[in-house]
Formats: sequence, C-alpha cells, structure tokens
Amino acid sequence: MKFQRALGSLRMLSPTYVNAPHNFSQARDGCFSSQYVDSFSTMSIGPTMKAVRVHRFGGPDVLSLETNVPLPELKQNQVLVRVLYAGVNPVETYIREGQYSRLPDLPYIPGSDAAGYVHQLGEGVTNLKVGDRVFVAGTSSNSGSYAQFVVSDATFVFPLHERLTFAQGSSLGVSFFTAYKALILRAKTRPGEVVLVHGASGAGGTAAVQIARAIGATVVGTAGTKEGMDVVLKCGAHHVFNHNHKCYEKKMVEHLGTGFDVIIEHLANINLGHDLQMLKPGARVMVVGCRGSVNINPRHLMLPEASIGGVALGASTTADWNEMGAAIVAGIESGWVNPVVNKEYCMDQVQQVHHDIIYSKGAKGKLVIKVADG
Ligand code: NAP
Repeated sequence: MKFQRALGSLRMLSPTYVNAPHNFSQARDGCFSSQYVDSFSTMSIGPTMKAVRVHRFGGPDVLSLETNVPLPELKQNQVLVRVLYAGVNPVETYIREGQYSRLPDLPYIPGSDAAGYVHQLGEGVTNLKVGDRVFVAGTSSNSGSYAQFVVSDATFVFPLHERLTFAQGSSLGVSFFTAYKALILRAKTRPGEVVLVHGASGAGGTAAVQIARAIGATVVGTAGTKEGMDVVLKCGAHHVFNHNHKCYEKKMVEHLGTGFDVIIEHLANINLGHDLQMLKPGARVMVVGCRGSVNINPRHLMLPEASIGGVALGASTTADWNEMGAAIVAGIESGWVNPVVNKEYCMDQVQQVHHDIIYSKGAKGKLVIKVADG
C-alpha cells in the first residue's frame, strides 16, 4: 500500500521530540493514588471499583466520583483492561450535556480512550494476553474509561509499545483515529499534496500534523498562541500560522504561493467560508469539528471542482478500525506517532477537565486523567 511505503521511509521527527511529551505535562502532585498499585499478576479485584458516573445529563457538576461502582461485565470477544490513564475528548462533554445524537442509558461512565494493562480476556480473544500493555480506542456499551477498569470490544484494544507512556497511550484513541480517518480514508491525501490542519494545536490537530507529515505531505498548521504554534512545529508542520491574527488566511496563501489540496477543519462554523477560498483544483475539505452553523458561498467549489466532506469516527466500519489500528500501531513502532500530552488531571478533578477542554484557550495537545499508578 502506498501509505505504508511512505511510512516505511519516515524517520523525520527529531529524536528529542520523540521523548518530549513530558515537557508538556503538568506536575502530578496531589493526584489520586490507586489502591491497585501491585502488578497485574498479584492483584485481585473486588466486585466494585472507583469510577466517574453520570446519573443525569447536565453541566460538569453531574460528573460524580464514586467508589462502589460495579465492575463492567466481560463478554465474548471483549477485554477487561486495568486503566492507568483515560483520555478526555470534547465529545464526552456533548454527551454529558445530553446534546449528542446518540446518548447512553443513565447512569453511565464517560470516556472511550484509555491505556493500561490487560486484566482479563473474554472468550474468543486470541491476539492479546493478560498483562499486555494496551491502549483502548473505544468501549463497550456498559463501560467507560474514566474508571479503574474498562471493558472494550477486542476490535478497539491495541498493543501499546514501550516507547510511549500510558498517558500518551490514552491520547491515541479518538484523536489519532479521527485524524487518520479524515486524512487517509476520507480525503485520500497523497504524498506531495499541501495540507492545512486548521486548529493544529489540539489533540486532533497534533495527531493530524504527525500523520500528514508521515505520508509526505507539505503540512501547514494553525494555532492560537505562540506555545501552541511551537507544539505544531515540533509535531512536524512545515509552516505554522496564528488563527487569531487578522488576515492570516491571506498570508498563508501568499506565503505558500498556492492554496490547499486538503483542509482538515476543526472549527468549521468559524472557518469554512474562508477555507473555500483557499482551494487548489480537486481540493477536499474535511469537516472534523463544528460548533454551530456557518454561511458559505458554494460557488467557490465550482471552478476548483472541490468538495466538502464530513468525518465521524463513530461511523467507522470494522474494516476501517482494523486499517486505522494497523497504521497507528505501525506508526508507534516506527516512531512517527507521538501523542502530545498537555496536562494531567486527577480523577477528582474530572469536573475541571470537562470545563477546561471546552473553555481553556491555547491548546497544546491532549488532556488526560490519571486513574492509577502503574
Ligand atoms: P482540542 O484539543 O480542544 O483542540 C481544539 C483546537 O481548535 C485547538 O487546536 C484550538 O487552537 C483550535 N481552535 C480554536 N479556535 C480556532 C479557530 N478560530 N480556528 C481554527 N482552530 C481553532 O479538541 P480536539 O480533540 O482536537 O477536537 C477538535 C474538534 O474536533 C472538536 O470540536 C471535537 O468535538 C471534534 N472532533 C470530531 C470528531 C469526529 O469524529 N468528527 C472526532 C474528534 C474530535 P488554540 O487553542 O491554539 O486556539
């Protein structure tokens, strides 16, 4: 496959950056310390666990840290994972508010991304063993990752190579899989194309920059702060611009001397109208994030014969998951997948992280919750 060949030749990220995520991590002082500190092999678990639960939809205050939550039920072709870190995604705030197309039954445990150790295997799972380091990119209907244990369908559980920390492992799921889906499965980005990652400093943006660079695209990213711009460059972008600066869109095109083949759009309600004025012939604009409606002039699509497409990780097929997982696991092993962890929170700071992921300015990668010591 063309993409795999491009990846094979990739060794472009500086070695210093491979280990850099700690530079972006906050001190862990005062964080929750798990009772499950023994290694998996000596550990026995009771019938209940510590987990965050939501009993009614609403603001961050409906997130309740509880100690007596029943362990999720393990079924055929599923994996029980002891969680060390859980990744936090904007979608978990939409669901918590009850503002999402598919809502879980109440009460539920939020979260789909995690990293930890395989604790138990359901019947039929043959590609993993108890004690493996893994990351989880999706959970089963009766489980969520803001908890000491999570159950996931084996399709969503992948080996976590030693070169990544558990915090980084918990940053892979939604962000990297969506970025891969947008760039490769939907936009069919090819080596040599010019890609704009609009909103490149966040969890999805830093992932998209790394993947686009890995396949040999010319990568342009935007961020809203100097620190965010530095992160985008370290992720491999060739050029970075500040999306809070006046007329930056015009400056990007002037600087490059060209428009874009692919735009990965993380805030379409603000940017889509401008995106359509920066297109090369045959361009593809991928709407990944959108928080409202927007006026566009479809005429801008006509001459370049360009298209706008939607991206939904939740609409992925099993074949998509298998492809995305294989590529991302290969990227971890060969060195071009390097999740950037911005800040770690304790479990009892879960309300704060749900506030911050929506309202804090100046993204620098992923927000994660530390659930337990390793
Ligand atoms: P995040 O980590 O909070 O990042 C948000 C990004 O938006 C940051 O890079 C931020 O940059 C940027 N941004 C802020 N103002 C902007 C502007 N005017 N123009 C361009 N970018 C701007 O969130 P995330 O996890 O990366 O997710 C990003 C969006 O994608 C969210 O809306 C999320 O719900 C959505 N998403 C969708 C899917 C899907 O399946 N469709 C999957 C994952 C995520 P600064 O902070 O530097 O200003």
